[in-house]
Amino acid sequence: MIPRPEHKISRKKVDPDALKVLYRLHRHGFKAFLVGGSVRDLEVGKKPKDFDVGTDARPQQVHKLFRNSRVIGRRFRLVQVFFRGGKIIEVSTFRKASDPDDNEVLGANNTFGSPAEDAMRRDLTINAMFYNIADFSVVDFVDGWDDLKNGRVRAVGDAETRFHRDPVRVLRAVRHAARLGFTLTPETLEAININRHALELCPTSRIRDELLRDLMGGACADWLELAHDTQVLYSLLPTLEPYYGENGSPLRSRARVFMSKVDKAIAKKRELDGSVVLALLFWPILEELAKDIDLPPGRAGRIAWANFVREKLPELASPVAFAKRMLERAHQISGVMAFVLNQEPGLRLPKKITQKGYFDTACELARFLDHNLRALAGPPGKTAQKRRRRPRRRRPRKKPEA
Ligand code: ATP
Ligand code: MG
Repeated sequence: MIPRPEHKISRKKVDPDALKVLYRLHRHGFKAFLVGGSVRDLEVGKKPKDFDVGTDARPQQVHKLFRNSRVIGRRFRLVQVFFRGGKIIEVSTFRKASDPDDNEVLGANNTFGSPAEDAMRRDLTINAMFYNIADFSVVDFVDGWDDLKNGRVRAVGDAETRFHRDPVRVLRAVRHAARLGFTLTPETLEAININRHALELCPTSRIRDELLRDLMGGACADWLELAHDTQVLYSLLPTLEPYYGENGSPLRSRARVFMSKVDKAIAKKRELDGSVVLALLFWPILEELAKDIDLPPGRAGRIAWANFVREKLPELASPVAFAKRMLERAHQISGVMAFVLNQEPGLRLPKKITQKGYFDTACELARFLDHNLRALAGPPGKTAQKRRRRPRRRRPRKKPEA
């Protein structure tokens, strides 16, 4: 246990609604902890994304205490408490190991447990500490404090077993190491190396969601490098290996520059479409491959480029089940780049392009590539206008002949 004077977690930095939940549980005689990523982030001085609460109260008991709540989840039931502005605080009851493999053994239902057991089921030691509202101490069952202070990412329990049971933990270890600038302990590294191949066996939607969190999480430049070092990148996207796989690969360096810009944009809270980041991840490869095709000047070349990316980009991205819409947008906006790549003097973007729903997103991509697509769009004002559809005149339907 780390008493209040020895840690930096201040209630001033805790979401006031999360505090309300903690206090109310505590007043009713239940244990009430802040759990998971928020404890880690508060101690290192980062702003937590969400404040999750752990308690020994059962879901129904929690639900009774908060009128503005509902119980969700089939396998693991947890309670969502609703606050103004659409804010949700999630309250879960302490439970024991819930590795996918254990389900048959433990039964498909909730297996409630002690706080120590709840810590043991978590992925990384730095994610497994609790902040206790009863005495404002940090409760640490897994030696996470030491790891946090020494910049180490270590699996809870035996890394090999835990990563084998749920290979998504491999991605989570790499993410947190990259994000915090921490080092992976040797056992954790080895477990990553052994289990990264099993990522192929995980549900594709989980992999996709985790990967997008890496790309859009504000540390994707460092993530790219660490995912390369650990080879996790190529377990996710084997299509990248021929281009990015060498140490010192100039194409990966270029991708890294783009990812740094993405991180900066995210730090400034610029709204980014996932398709832009996706296109940037593959951009150096598209550029490289395009060297082998002779793009004719002018319009013919632009069409050839658009066709080329429409085929290549989905192929490169294919090992991950990205949403069809996002992938489509990624190749659409990459296709439009033909106008900055293959540009004759005095070129103006045709209206057909500037009126596309994805034009603004294409301009964003161009900006990352140090081009100004909007400048080619003709006089300002006109381009932003959405196409006004002229009401279509209905042709009177022909009466069926008698
Ligand atoms: P972030 O800041 O990205 O939200 P986080 O650590 O809060 O990071 P979440 O995905 O929000 O990550 O998960 C909340 C907590 O649940 C984690 O801190 C960890 O303790 C636990 N957890 C999440 N995924 C796993 C997993 N696959 N195996 C074990 N524990 C997990
Ligand atoms: Mg979280």
